[in-house]
Amino acid sequence: MFSCRSLRNRNDVFDKVPNVKIDAVIFDFGGVFTASPLPSCEDLGSELGAAPGQIVEIMFGPPAEDSDHPWHCLERGEITLEQARDEILHLGHEICGLEVDIYQFFEKMPRDAGLRYELVDRVADLKKKGYPTALLTNNIREFSDGWRGLLPVDDLFDLVVDSSHEGIRKPDPKIFRITLERLGGLTPECTVFLDDFPANIEAASSLGMQTVHVGNDLSLAIAELDELLSL
Ligand SMILES: [Mg+2]
Repeated sequence: MFSCRSLRNRNDVFDKVPNVKIDAVIFDFGGVFTASPLPSCEDLGSELGAAPGQIVEIMFGPPAEDSDHPWHCLERGEITLEQARDEILHLGHEICGLEVDIYQFFEKMPRDAGLRYELVDRVADLKKKGYPTALLTNNIREFSDGWRGLLPVDDLFDLVVDSSHEGIRKPDPKIFRITLERLGGLTPECTVFLDDFPANIEAASSLGMQTVHVGNDLSLAIAELDELLSL
């Protein structure tokens, strides 16, 4: 088995490194601990008569970039939720003449955001086994109390890095580096990162972190995590 010390001076970029002792597991929140928000967005789009994918693009901007789109500014804490709503309404009118209201999208989300209790239990189990854990979330300042009320954050995670407090959001590599630093200066190759957005997975992987893409079938992601942790 490789040790993290032996990897510390290597410059290789790893996709999957077998038999490495994992020092920490880092989780995204939305779409990982909760159901994906995208179907609710598509529901709104079909009600409005938009083309598939159109409302997601107007509402959330380019997924592979950290841009000046209002949703991205909101997740960096640069504007308020109300300002983001107004700017996205303006974009919707300008691009396709539709009323793209993020508040209507929020109303379509399940009441508990579709919390995945299976993963909550799995993280509690990892904590019992002694794994350091972190939550690295692109989030919204105004939602802080709401999402933190869904799960026992302090019991599950040693560290929370929230984009709206940092002023930096995924996929910017800086926010991954901040997370590794606050976990004690960990070597990227000795950490696992789970996220539902491919662009965030690519960013973490390019830094050398091991990654698990979380899709609709959570059991596949948990099995992949277990394999990386040799559980
Ligand atoms: Mg997510």
